[in-house]
Amino acid sequence: MPPARPTPETVARKLGYHAPGELALHLPLRYEDETRLTPLHALRAGDIAQVEGCIAHAQIQPRPRRQLVLEVREAEPRSHPAEDGRTGLFCRLIHFYPNQVEQLKPGVRVRLFGEVRAGFLGHEMVHPRLRVVQPGTPLPTSLTPVYPGVAGLSQNVIRQAVRATLAQIDLTESLPQDLLRHLRLPGFAQVLWQLHAPSPDAPLDLAKRHAPGWRRLKFDELLAQQLSLRLAARQRHALCAQALTQDGGLGERLLALLPFSLTPAQHRVLEEIRRDLARPHPMNRLLQGDVGSGKTLVAALAVLPALAAGTQAAVMAPTEILAEQLYRKLHEWLTPLGLRVAWLTAALKGRARRQTLVDIATGRVHVAVGTQALFQAGVIFHNLSLAVVDEQHRFGVEQRLALREKGHGADGLTPHLLMLSATPIPRSLAMSYYADLDVSVIDALPPGRTPVRTRVMSLDRRDEVIARLRDYCLGGAQAYWVCPLVEESEKLQLKAAEASHAELTAALPELAIGLVHGRMKQAEKAAVMAAFKAGKLHLLVATTVIEVGVDVPNAALMVIEHAERYGLAQLHQLRGRVGRGARESNCLLLYGGPLSDAARQRLHIIKENTDGFAIAREDLRLRGPGEFLGARQSGLPMLRFADLEEDLDLLQAARGAAEDLLAQRSDAVHRHLERWLPRGLDYFRA
Ligand code: ADP
Ligand code: MG
Repeated sequence: MPPARPTPETVARKLGYHAPGELALHLPLRYEDETRLTPLHALRAGDIAQVEGCIAHAQIQPRPRRQLVLEVREAEPRSHPAEDGRTGLFCRLIHFYPNQVEQLKPGVRVRLFGEVRAGFLGHEMVHPRLRVVQPGTPLPTSLTPVYPGVAGLSQNVIRQAVRATLAQIDLTESLPQDLLRHLRLPGFAQVLWQLHAPSPDAPLDLAKRHAPGWRRLKFDELLAQQLSLRLAARQRHALCAQALTQDGGLGERLLALLPFSLTPAQHRVLEEIRRDLARPHPMNRLLQGDVGSGKTLVAALAVLPALAAGTQAAVMAPTEILAEQLYRKLHEWLTPLGLRVAWLTAALKGRARRQTLVDIATGRVHVAVGTQALFQAGVIFHNLSLAVVDEQHRFGVEQRLALREKGHGADGLTPHLLMLSATPIPRSLAMSYYADLDVSVIDALPPGRTPVRTRVMSLDRRDEVIARLRDYCLGGAQAYWVCPLVEESEKLQLKAAEASHAELTAALPELAIGLVHGRMKQAEKAAVMAAFKAGKLHLLVATTVIEVGVDVPNAALMVIEHAERYGLAQLHQLRGRVGRGARESNCLLLYGGPLSDAARQRLHIIKENTDGFAIAREDLRLRGPGEFLGARQSGLPMLRFADLEEDLDLLQAARGAAEDLLAQRSDAVHRHLERWLPRGLDYFRA
């Protein structure tokens, strides 16, 4: 018995879809024209063609490789044979079955589709698509789509499954006709039939992404994204949060303890945050500011209204080092005000952990600082009203969802959310993925900073650099030495760091040199960082664990080995570790040659720019939004059809349409989302 043909369900699953209906949007890569036959005498080498003829000879050739060779001749002799007398076509089958040998006998009529090559004996096709036909077997009436596939699924099986799906599912138009007319977009059903089964006279660029059919689907996809974002925003606005209206004078007391005052930019963003906090609906605000712009202090001041109201705040950082450092800062600032700050990461174990969990659950702790461990099962807050996420872009969507979940307390209140990031969001992303986000920007650095001088130098001059480090550090400044990134292996990277540490220690015996890397125990890391911060170490050899957020104002020199291996954002973050005090700071980018064009451009951009926003713009230009976001890292559902940069006009149109539809056509909204986001809105809520 022949194996049963796979059902559309099976095909959909094998292609990675959740529901068979999604096959309708499994679009062809290209098309083949099987609607016409080319006479044998008209074939030319290089053509992709379909021919029909009768087998004149069939023979198994043993050499050079066992193969079945068919000579095919025109079935009805033509009145004008080809000029050079070639009327046959050789067909070579390297993989063939015994039953094919039985079937493909002289006199049998076959239809072949494939590429024509110039062979030794004349034109030939190697492994063409081959079918036995009867005289007059009809030709297909539409172009044959070629689909993206996976091993074990033939094009024929995919084609049939897609056809069956198209015939089965509901292709009713989801959008109002006037909208489609206005945007000059074709109807949904028409587009799908045209893309999956185009008529023979369809334009050849049908599979290209700027064709009208594609534009319709891109628009639909962007519209679904806009609709879901707006609905998520509505849902959020319908949620209740504790209104945190005043800080009971805590802010003034904190500022009085600091040796500096807020910059106007810090002041402004703090006001924006406070206005949100005072509302009885959860805040969803991103605080953007370049590295070193003083976001931590703003965050510290922002939590005070939560504490004054007798509720708790949680502050989350992406790494242990950062969490530790945030903890120290907040502890230093808030303890004098009579507030209790606790620290919780995966590294906290045993009795200390149990005690901290109890303190968080009973409300004894006012502010809990930690890594994502803060939002895992087992951590119960007494009454959390505000969550702060530092270096927001480093968290995935799952983590942000977990954090949201934590918030749904028994009292039915959702915590306010404040996110901090040094990575500005490009306009196209701000309009799409981040549309449901309020943004505050710190647009000026605290006074007294001298911009970091950046120099790019060949690694050949490494010894010279090491020699100068001695005088530099003995003169009272501290320095970082960042080891080469080894993408493939954390182990190799660690080895490189240990080697650099040993080498520098040997070369510079007068200096106290520390080492910090990701594989160290939390307590060891913390001890090294504390020693560096206290000025007990001249030089800190580090891997990228120091990339984000580390703040040691006396450190004024940053050396990055093999800087060409780092991305722009990473280089900017690393460089941001210096230039935090009044001291003139320097950054040395040591590169190993030969440089690729892209690496050369990156080093040039980082040398010429100190503004993080300018650097992010360049980064976006070099890499495009998908990569910029890092699909995996951000966990954002990537667009399948639309391209944010290329289709900005459609994105604009989708934004406008989303508003109109939500206001007037809830039926269309419902139909459209049902089709495009059958699995719900969850991912857009994070
Ligand atoms: P980032 O925005 O990168 O997180 P931080 O919050 O770590 O920056 O701040 C960088 C440094 O600037 C810290 O040492 C901080 O104490 C200091 N700082 C913050 N605000 C001010 C200010 N208004 N005036 C002077 N220094 C400030
Ligand atoms: Mg920071």
